[in-house]
Amino acid sequence: MFRSTNRTAAFARAFVVKGELLRDSEGLAREVVARCQALARYSEDVDGIRRTFLSAPMRDCHREIAGWVAPLGITSRVDAVGNLRIIYPGAKSDARRLLIGSHLDTVPNAGAFDGVLGVVIAIALLSAVNGRRFPFGMEVIGFSEEEGVRFGTPFIGSRALAGTLDEKVLLRQDAQGISVRDAIADFGLNPAEISLAAVGEDAIGYLEFHIEQGPVLENAGHPLGVVEAIAGQNRLMFTFTGKSNHAGTTPMNCRHDAIAGAAEWITAVECHARTTPGLVATVGAIRVKPGVGNVIAGEAELSLDVRHRDDGARKKTVDNLFCGAESVAKSRGLNLQTTVLLDQPAVPMNPFLVAQIAESVRKAGCEPYRMVSGAGHDAMIMAARIPSAMIFLRTPGGISHDPAESVEAVDVAKAIECGLHLLEQLAISDEFLRLNL
Ligand SMILES: [Zn+2]
Repeated sequence: MFRSTNRTAAFARAFVVKGELLRDSEGLAREVVARCQALARYSEDVDGIRRTFLSAPMRDCHREIAGWVAPLGITSRVDAVGNLRIIYPGAKSDARRLLIGSHLDTVPNAGAFDGVLGVVIAIALLSAVNGRRFPFGMEVIGFSEEEGVRFGTPFIGSRALAGTLDEKVLLRQDAQGISVRDAIADFGLNPAEISLAAVGEDAIGYLEFHIEQGPVLENAGHPLGVVEAIAGQNRLMFTFTGKSNHAGTTPMNCRHDAIAGAAEWITAVECHARTTPGLVATVGAIRVKPGVGNVIAGEAELSLDVRHRDDGARKKTVDNLFCGAESVAKSRGLNLQTTVLLDQPAVPMNPFLVAQIAESVRKAGCEPYRMVSGAGHDAMIMAARIPSAMIFLRTPGGISHDPAESVEAVDVAKAIECGLHLLEQLAISDEFLRLNL
């Protein structure tokens, strides 16, 4: 526990570090951007970025990052699910650790910053503290699998850390018929050691820097966002079944047109989402049968994705949209079937860490813009195990999962400053050292 004299000393050091960071943060930020672009070279595709779970380019990526941290006197290791783990010791050997990270895998045809930026900023923070020891250690994590591209199931890396990785995942196969278990062994790792990847009581919390991947911060004119919660999500399928028939001989009043019913309902979904604060709802896929220009459609199968930070509001929306679909089906003489594919609750970020981040953003000279993440992130998985929080960086044009994805170095500089202020704050916080779920 820190006494007041230690606090004063810590503040004095903070001032020095602050002086350094104000001089260096832009240089560090340019290095962060260049490093993200350097990691983008490690790709399974020659004409774009694709780096999936336990792929050869992921190994190259690990080697490159290990080379960056070696001059800091820090070594890295790869755990049994391929997460890169870099430990920066605390002032005492038994100090608990703050985890800082994001994911190193990408979607196909990716940009250079989704996930990678959070790992590279964490490494920049280790470099910026310049050997100083804190009352807590730090561990940078480069998660091996977040996007779910190779095996069709996301968050394998963070689920291993949170201790929530279902054994059945090991049996899943990729497009080449290779199982997760075999992929782990092929990478030179031992699937029997996955449980050792889980964090214990020595992990205090998890912090993730990530590009916003949307236009909200840019439209509001803020470089950084303080994530208060990750939205809950439903995914459902709705199938309207009518009657296929001849497009020329069937009078309009004798039809049971599944596409027309689907279209009426889709418009209602959009209208409901537009008029409900905080709600996003999307019909992203339609499959129609028979799908022929001169035949009235007999069946239309639609996807529905609904997200909201408030689980009650989300459930109410799903109920309303279901009732709307039933009423459309009834009025048109259609049959309706629904299937729930996903019902995932919202995940609030840790209120203490959120408040500390808001303060550090303010100290970095920015307004702490509080927001909800519409996308899932590793922090969502880690929050089940340890107190977790996220800081979003403005994403130019709101473009992500695309080669045009970018970030401004000045915004990265603000993120680094925010991170350093946060470390200073946490270093003198007794509450942080005692933090638990
Ligand atoms: Zn991501």
